[in-house]
Amino acid sequence: MPHHHDDERVIDPSAPQYNATLVKRVDLNQDLAYFWVKFEGEPTPFEPGQYMTTGVFADGKLWQRPYSVASAPAEAGMNGYELFVRLVPIMRFTTLLWRLPGGHRMRMIGPKGKFLLEPADTRTHLYVSTGTGIAPFISMIRQSMFDDAPRKTVIINGCSYVDELGYREELEALEAEKGYPLRYVPTISRPGDPRNAGWSGRGGRAETIVADVCREYGLKPERTVVYICGNPEMILNVERELMGRGFPEFHVKKELYWPKGKDAALVGQGAEPG
Ligand SMILES: Cc1cc2nc3c(=O)[nH]c(=O)nc-3n(C[C@H](O)[C@H](O)[C@H](O)COP(=O)(O)OP(=O)(O)OC[C@H]3O[C@@H](n4cnc5c(N)ncnc54)[C@H](O)[C@@H]3O)c2cc1C
Repeated sequence: MPHHHDDERVIDPSAPQYNATLVKRVDLNQDLAYFWVKFEGEPTPFEPGQYMTTGVFADGKLWQRPYSVASAPAEAGMNGYELFVRLVPIMRFTTLLWRLPGGHRMRMIGPKGKFLLEPADTRTHLYVSTGTGIAPFISMIRQSMFDDAPRKTVIINGCSYVDELGYREELEALEAEKGYPLRYVPTISRPGDPRNAGWSGRGGRAETIVADVCREYGLKPERTVVYICGNPEMILNVERELMGRGFPEFHVKKELYWPKGKDAALVGQGAEPG
């Protein structure tokens, strides 16, 4: 199976199109990492939920992909735009990103996207994600905290393994401090796997628990807005589940990270649970 160590494409250190720098990287595990990319000039404003397109030149070609920004817009300009990325081991963009040393230059353009918070929305916000699809919700929560305008939130994040739960400590701390009206609901789709030994939280995919979560937290269709992000199969299944429970279509917003039917399992490893 191709891996980033086998990726021998020659990365251009100084293409004229570069306008940003990789200033920091923190690994969550061997396939997931947080990256901070900072503009060299004036930072570009964005809204929580939007994405930037980042790229590098290798073998004379620009390889670029969109990524949701996890930072609050209020802090991204100073610290860099924070991205939460999964390594997809098929020698396209992420295998290049994994090889970039800190301080390497990149291209970043944007923002784009309509996966946005509604202004002054007093409904409960149900955020449903798989894997890295949690990133836009982190931006939304962080910016709402920054604005001192917390929104009642239930956030579901489905992963195959416990060590893939991004932002777990931050969300657990927020829930425990009670500074933000948030319920964090991580769920593990392979609870019996030895890698998940010791996990006593929920088991099952996001779409199989969403109805129970609505029941438990008293989420009513007329008083809830739903945002779903990540794996397209999960998004469509959650949407179907919620529609069956009376959630109107216009209360549901979606961000698909790849087209339906193009699961990574078909092109390599690194698939996220549905
Ligand atoms: C609006 C938007 C926002 C996105 N935000 C993020 C983000 O915040 N973090 C992130 O990791 N990715 C995100 N993606 C996906 C990202 O753009 C790339 O597709 C991904 O990083 C893989 O890049 P690649 O060039 O290595 O492979 P690609 O050729 O782009 O993808 C190959 C296959 O990998 C699988 N795949 C793609 N993304 C993921 C993923 N995140 N997890 C598991 N499997 C995946 C799919 O099956 C896809 O068909 C986003 C995509 C879109 C459209």
